Amino acid sequence: MGLRDADRLAEQLKTNPGATTVYMRSGAHMLPDTPAHNIIGELKGTEFPDQYITVGGHLDSWDPAEGAQDDGAGCVQSIEVLRALKAIGYKPRHTIRVVLFANEENGGRGGRKYAEAAKDAGEKHLLGLESDNGGFTPRAFTLSLSEDKLAAIQPWISLLKPYGVYELEHGGGGSDVNPMARQLNATVGELRPDSQRYFEYHHARNDVLENVNKRELEMGAVNMAALIYLVDKYGL
Ligand SMILES: [Zn+2]
Repeated sequence: MGLRDADRLAEQLKTNPGATTVYMRSGAHMLPDTPAHNIIGELKGTEFPDQYITVGGHLDSWDPAEGAQDDGAGCVQSIEVLRALKAIGYKPRHTIRVVLFANEENGGRGGRKYAEAAKDAGEKHLLGLESDNGGFTPRAFTLSLSEDKLAAIQPWISLLKPYGVYELEHGGGGSDVNPMARQLNATVGELRPDSQRYFEYHHARNDVLENVNKRELEMGAVNMAALIYLVDKYGL
């Protein structure tokens, strides 16, 4: 059952109200909690090793399929950011951290725990970037910046555009990085790819690897790497 089924049902009820009967049986139930872990990898900063830029997606997914778009795509893109920067021999000024979050779909405890632990450790976070909108052609990044600060980085668009992103707009991050804004006062943001096809796969049986386009996925990852490079080099 997904949005398309709901649409079809709503349509039926409208056009054929008397003749539409729905029978639903659900086997859904809550199981007891079990331990899960955020998985973290990092490239140590050379100038400010104790200041962090994080990029991440979430590891868990809904049962019916692999969760390739939601959110395998975001996990792979986040890992690719670190791999790409390492491959070109880039030595970041700040520590760049990839965080693969646990438990996004079932309450977001991975994201909350990360921010909590970072706060306890007294870590300073410059940016928490997230990719959790599918691995589609990149269009924009949202960032929780003031109007002035957002205006100041608009020239970056010309550097991001070759890989798809043509907008840096005001907005929050996703549910895994938003706790960093609250707990750590970090700027948060997310990749906003083309959203037209996301809900054809989101939480559905066909959210499998075959339905992720390699080229579109890579374009998003390269945009994320470019943004993180710029933030590392010039700040926000
Ligand atoms: Zn997700």
